[in-house]
Amino acid sequence: MKILVTGGAGFIGSHLSEALLGAGNEVWAIDDLSTGRAGNIQHLEPEDGFTFVIDTITNETLLEEAVKWSDQVYHLAAAVGVRLIVEEPIKTIETNIFGTDLVLKMANRYRKKTFIASTSEVYGKQADRTLEEGDNMVYGPTVKSRWSYACSKAVDEFLALAYYRKSCLPIVIGRLFNTVGPRQVGQYGMVLPTFVRQALLGEPITVFGDGSQTRSFCYVSDTVGAIVALMEHTEAAGEIFNIGSDEEVSIRTLAELVRKKTNSPSEIETLPYDVAYEPGFEDMQRRCPNIAKIHQTIGYRPKVDLDGILDRVIAHMREELKNEGLL
Ligand code: UDP
Repeated sequence: MKILVTGGAGFIGSHLSEALLGAGNEVWAIDDLSTGRAGNIQHLEPEDGFTFVIDTITNETLLEEAVKWSDQVYHLAAAVGVRLIVEEPIKTIETNIFGTDLVLKMANRYRKKTFIASTSEVYGKQADRTLEEGDNMVYGPTVKSRWSYACSKAVDEFLALAYYRKSCLPIVIGRLFNTVGPRQVGQYGMVLPTFVRQALLGEPITVFGDGSQTRSFCYVSDTVGAIVALMEHTEAAGEIFNIGSDEEVSIRTLAELVRKKTNSPSEIETLPYDVAYEPGFEDMQRRCPNIAKIHQTIGYRPKVDLDGILDRVIAHMREELKNEGLL
């Protein structure tokens, strides 16, 4: 099959491109390298059937050509990462809304099945139980820029569902929950690569807030496997699925686990949210997916647990730091 991956040089996009190529598909990856890195897909470039174009998905001529060429579209290009979202609110809204609008327009014009990568942020700040696809969204006020990300991705979901209902365009929406693994960088705010890098370099490990907030981390191979399986399953069309793990850990415990596993002398330092992000920043206290729907549909269960995730991420970060001459 011929597959277009937008955001193909990003952390998840590069793993997805690799898996699709490995399964014998031809892959065309488009990425503007805003948060993606050419190094993420360097190893794929010599492979037959892989084409990489550095450009924005809002380049309509290019996008049209790529969608027309493809049999399926995986749309992962987006502004992601809490730090980036807080610092670049205009870019976040524009990339996430206009980019997806254009992808869906083209997918509809050429009738191509499309995966829309959404996010657990869409649920907002509910914390009382595990999150189910049909749950309400609970957001803070528009003056707090974090919510622009949730809203922009919610608009993407509305649009995709509207194309499914009005034009029978086969779309699948995946809400990704804290995906982690090799090639993820801490630069845009992601906690695990940040902690591992800090621990390996002996720098203070920065826990934001009091560290009692919890997250559930999902290893990228589990995420990618789920995305591809959903796209292969006819009954997933027109549906939204949580993609993640339901093993919860508090951020303070995560910091302690990383420190222990790396044998690091690093201090664990707590930083108030207003210093870490911006005054009045609101965090989610808990964010854990209910994964019953995806389990029932494609038999999904994450294969790599937190312990396995930490071992893999630490091993990979060690290599990266050695290559950078820092270890
Ligand atoms: N976090 C932290 N230290 C960091 C980066 C993040 O304590 O250096 C916290 C962050 O405030 C949040 C959690 O770790 O409570 C997960 O943050 P991340 O940005 O990775 O993902 P989120 O779930 O917020 O989208």
